[in-house]
Amino acid sequence: MAKVPISGKIDLRRQAAIVTGGARGIGRACALALAREGANVAVADVIPAEEAVAAIRSHGGEAFWQETDVTATADVGWLVRAVTDRWGRIDILVNNAGTVQRVGLEDLTEELWDRDIGTILRGTYLCTRAVYPIMKEQGYGKIVTVSSIAGIAGGPVSRAVAPGIEQRGRSGPAYAAAKGGVIAFMKWVAKDGARYGIYANCVAPGPIRTEMTRGFEYDLGSAPLQRMGEPEDVAEAVLFLASQASNWVTGTVLTVDGGMLMD
Ligand code: NDP
Repeated sequence: MAKVPISGKIDLRRQAAIVTGGARGIGRACALALAREGANVAVADVIPAEEAVAAIRSHGGEAFWQETDVTATADVGWLVRAVTDRWGRIDILVNNAGTVQRVGLEDLTEELWDRDIGTILRGTYLCTRAVYPIMKEQGYGKIVTVSSIAGIAGGPVSRAVAPGIEQRGRSGPAYAAAKGGVIAFMKWVAKDGARYGIYANCVAPGPIRTEMTRGFEYDLGSAPLQRMGEPEDVAEAVLFLASQASNWVTGTVLTVDGGMLMD
């Protein structure tokens, strides 16, 4: 096993990163934070990410959008090929792409179950599997997966406040199962990957102000830090786990939730 480097100052210059679901919200903030510290960033999303790419470039960073459906093996293969062709390596993978439904168990169709399990669990598996041989070859890689407190505690209660929203507030059972699944998956990868210099960790955000939570209100009164999270709150935690600052951290879940969950 290679010598485990001691943690140090964040410096991502000459590193290449992939952020899935990076066009907006938490993924966009992650892409910008990684680029700020010097990483070249591939923004992988089903929707156009030109705005995120332009924001990175306007700060002097290098980035491109690769249209990618993380549930499609071929798309993920093209993504990895595009990054290695361009930058010759992949140091960081942020598994962030996700979808959510807010219906209860009895109303949950198999299609909806498959969609959320697909985007979150299958997508994380496909992307991780695709970068793995490259990271192994390099003897270095940091994989950070955006889970959720729903994957630990089954979904915080919320309620729809915007007119026209008929869904119940709480994120649904497929979402909880997928978000819990990626935590177990990252632990498996952490145990396997350490010998190759590959790290695998999760962040588990609480309610964050993005498209995903628009129109829903959360009970923030019981959390010590009583506000909604912002994408940047998550991005800085992801940056820590994606960088040399966390060289003795693997297989962990960092809750980023204003203290909502405590053991
Ligand atoms: P957003 O919906 O704003 O962003 C998610 C992005 O992922 C969108 O651009 C979305 O595109 C894209 N995406 C969806 N499916 C796929 C796919 N199959 N392949 C590639 N990209 C895809 O959500 P957030 O920024 O809020 O969420 C980011 C992550 O953080 C998710 O995994 C979410 O579950 C997690 N999270 C969010 C919390 C929150 O409160 N917001 C709390 C805890 C975790 P499209 O528009 O087509 O869906």
